[in-house]
Amino acid sequence: MCGIIGFTGLKQASPIILEGLSRMEYRGYDSAGMAVISPQNRMQLAKVSGKVAGLYEKTDNGAAFPGVCGIGHTRWATHGAPTEANAHPHVSMHGQFAVAHNGIIENFVPLKEELLAKGYTFQSQTDTEVVAQMLEDCYEGDFQKAVETVLSRIEGSYGFAILCADDPGTIFAVKKNSPIILGLGEGFNLFASDVTALVEHTREVVYMEDGQYAKVTPDSVELFAEDGSPLPLKVSHVSLSVAAAEKGGYEHFMMKEMMEQPEAVGRALSPRIKGGEIVLDDFRLTKEDFNKFTKIVITACGSAYYAGLAGKYAIEKFCRIPVDVQLASELRYADPFIDEHCLLIVLSQSGETLDTIAALKECKARGATVLAIVNVVESAITKLADSVLYTWAGPEVAVATTKGYTTQLAVLYLFAVYAARVLGRLDAEQYASVIRELQALPEAVRNALKTDCDMSNLAQYFKDAQHVFYLGRNTDSALAMEGALKFKEISYIHAEAYASGELKHGTIALIEEGTPVVAVCTNPALLEKSLSNIIEVKARGAVVTAVVPEGLPGSEAIEGYADHCIKVPALRDVFASIAAVVPLQLLAYHTAKLRGCSIDKPKNLAKSVTVE
Ligand code: GLU
Repeated sequence: MCGIIGFTGLKQASPIILEGLSRMEYRGYDSAGMAVISPQNRMQLAKVSGKVAGLYEKTDNGAAFPGVCGIGHTRWATHGAPTEANAHPHVSMHGQFAVAHNGIIENFVPLKEELLAKGYTFQSQTDTEVVAQMLEDCYEGDFQKAVETVLSRIEGSYGFAILCADDPGTIFAVKKNSPIILGLGEGFNLFASDVTALVEHTREVVYMEDGQYAKVTPDSVELFAEDGSPLPLKVSHVSLSVAAAEKGGYEHFMMKEMMEQPEAVGRALSPRIKGGEIVLDDFRLTKEDFNKFTKIVITACGSAYYAGLAGKYAIEKFCRIPVDVQLASELRYADPFIDEHCLLIVLSQSGETLDTIAALKECKARGATVLAIVNVVESAITKLADSVLYTWAGPEVAVATTKGYTTQLAVLYLFAVYAARVLGRLDAEQYASVIRELQALPEAVRNALKTDCDMSNLAQYFKDAQHVFYLGRNTDSALAMEGALKFKEISYIHAEAYASGELKHGTIALIEEGTPVVAVCTNPALLEKSLSNIIEVKARGAVVTAVVPEGLPGSEAIEGYADHCIKVPALRDVFASIAAVVPLQLLAYHTAKLRGCSIDKPKNLAKSVTVE
């Protein structure tokens, strides 16, 4: 999920690798490493927990690694703490192979067991290390064949850089659901997961596609399909500036991260669904634990709190356990009714949110069992929780969360279905069908991103507003809150979310001629009610943008009344937010852009809130 680079040429590799890793630092990472083949054909390895600067120090600014072929990595931990031992590259037991990897090897557990039984020993807790050991295990003198054999056995998402001490000038680059770009030079070739690491050296590049692998030597780059058949190189010229390249060609990190959501949601779900079953490795809550819970409390701050509000509906629906969602900054002072029959779920992207930590400690002291749903591996909250489910969203740079929020939803949904199955609340048929629905979520998010152009046009109607109202019922009410928050945090326009039925008990007087209202109507059972609320606000002059699922019977009436209608993929009601949030994120983004706001770093906000 972070940075990979490989270089092979006639000049020293380490300065180029170190500089490439520095260029990719903006993405965020927790540890770094480099492996270079020495002039004596030995694998030289340096790893640090922390910054690339530590790698410069450890290698005497690269001078200690004189070789001309090597690989480097900045890691964003998914499996195992961000320690030096877990940093990449990982070297096989006898030093033959070195591997740097972005992504997740989904079937690493059985592969590791197989290798352990054969006598292989492991130095790290990562999923990646199995790849290095497997390469050594199946190597019979042909580097390419060993790579092909390993690729045929692993599942998951990966960008790889692979070195073999026996074949000192060659690096294999592999891509599947994780970017790798080949850079073509004279007297050298290189590749990286991020074009920013290449542009200093070449602007002639080949964007690898999923399932492809490449053999890279100083004077040749050969590209192969999954089945080993050779492919022609489609060379592109990169004209992006380094600053634009950092954002993947987008103008802002927020847009880049919104576009990464289908992959991020896929990464949160797919490694945990195996053979039609939800399998949660390292999950510490047992059936006995679930049977003792009489209530679930979700606590969080900001968008994570709104994810919790939406997740409540899924958990209650599938598990039939009452769920109470509380702001962490309130829960900690509320003298809460928490005891050993309570499961506390804490949500935090950074895992360092101070209010959430304080609420967690308060509830734990009262006997609650704590499940943490966080993005950053080994962050403070993970140390305090009884069990952890990582969101695996990858680093998020924009302050306003997007993929952080959608991956929290994905994990909450997954948890709801898992817990319901453990509790015996879903029979085999229901379970199979809901698993299929979970598997369809990444594609639904991808399709929801197609509303980008519509939302960009719609932003024209919002950019000069004084107030914007967001309405919805049930999960749509939780989603309205996230939509309003996203909108106000980056566009600086006042936005308020109301449960649709509540507006008339509150401040419907604020709806005037031309006031923009966003009505989220994803729940088929509540369409008629939502329509009445749309009519109510229209009667006061509101300009209504309705968000409705594609092809939903009965939604024509809403289309008839709303001024603008945005179609999102149809999903089961309790899962609908994960796709329907996308146009709301896009609307906030485009409105903020038209207003010239600082989108990635909105005023007065910080990414990780470590103050009370
Ligand atoms: N899953 C790997 C690990 O935890 C790769 C991490 C990454 O993508 O940086 O080491």
